[in-house]
Amino acid sequence: AEPLDVDAIREAYPILDQSFDGSPLVYLDSAATTQTPDPVVDAMSDYYRETNANVHRGIHHLSQKASIAYEEAHDRVAEFVGASGGREELVFTKNTTESENLVAHAWGLRELGPGDEVVLTEMEHHASLVTWQQVAMRAGADVKYIRVDENGRLDMDHARECITDDTAMVSAVHVSNTLGTVNPVSELVDLAHEHDALALLDGAQAVPTRPVDVEEIDADFYAFSGHKMAGPTGIGALYGKRELLADLDPYLYGGGMIRSVTYDESTWGDVPWKFEAGTPPIAEGIGLAAAVDYLEEIGMDRVQAHEERLAEAAHEKLSAIDGLTIYGPEPGPERAGLVSFTLENVHAHDLASICNDHAVAIRAGDHCTQPLHDKLGIAATARASFYVYNSVDEIDPLVDAIEDAQALFG
Ligand code: PMP
Repeated sequence: AEPLDVDAIREAYPILDQSFDGSPLVYLDSAATTQTPDPVVDAMSDYYRETNANVHRGIHHLSQKASIAYEEAHDRVAEFVGASGGREELVFTKNTTESENLVAHAWGLRELGPGDEVVLTEMEHHASLVTWQQVAMRAGADVKYIRVDENGRLDMDHARECITDDTAMVSAVHVSNTLGTVNPVSELVDLAHEHDALALLDGAQAVPTRPVDVEEIDADFYAFSGHKMAGPTGIGALYGKRELLADLDPYLYGGGMIRSVTYDESTWGDVPWKFEAGTPPIAEGIGLAAAVDYLEEIGMDRVQAHEERLAEAAHEKLSAIDGLTIYGPEPGPERAGLVSFTLENVHAHDLASICNDHAVAIRAGDHCTQPLHDKLGIAATARASFYVYNSVDEIDPLVDAIEDAQALFG
């Protein structure tokens, strides 16, 4: 794949062109949220300037325009992840978290019972871990975790032990936001299906960073967030196979999702509307479709190659620092563009704070994978994560900041 022209890309991100106390901003926190390029901001401001109205097919011109744009945004996002059913297979939600809650509540509370098992991985984000833990508890079902090995990969022998005829759902993260591991999701989905279980994948870090084809993976459900893929906050998506979504009952009730209502009962509209109660995130949906156009124009193969190059460079430069430990697999196609690490004698929060003094934005904490950190025996890691607007050169100020922290605390 032809390398990205980072200088040209950065022209669409004026936010990156600023300094703090004389240091140019180095934004290495894209796994938390990506920056929003001008075409996405423009699509949303154009919407507010030219189209804004409530949707649900109002009678007047603006409502018609808004409805069509919002509906077509579903088709566009569905197409981006390889869902051939368009809007019939793609629900807009607030984020990955809500998408996973939708499946856990609408499917899990109906289908799970005593004796059933939900199989997760030890590297799940709290978005799926806490959700399934709580829903399984309410349903009387059990939760099992597929082990993560010392290299930060899933132990697939253990996966084959965990996934049995008692398994009702396998819910796994596609790309770990802490370890950077790219999991063998097709294999996990196949294992689930061999045992007549369903599979839900958390694609929050995968859809932004590599080509994803939900049909090729054969996922039953697939969740992701707009704000991690150059789109706005407040919008996420849930892909679900047509017959599965058609069969589920809604998770939220209200206006816009019904077919008919009497004082005694209600019937539901079509997918996706039956899952989108109330006034939906219209501008955000349109913004997400614009983000998809933007990413497709760059090419997801090139995005992935860029991420791998940055991860490799970061790995090389950071691992040369004494006392620094990197978590997760070696760089390569099984490694996404983020690096979590600890530095001997320096707490991750102090490290992030010194980085901030250098205007280098990184994250410190457990990255919503607290049980994984407990397993690793650490309270917190520092995490640097990259996107299309980052250059390899930006790793140098990170290294300088780390060395500064080491001199101060070490
Ligand atoms: N899963 C993973 C792997 C993530 O990285 C994140 C975001 N940190 C989430 C789920 C949750 O995403 P959101 O906060 O957008 O719901």
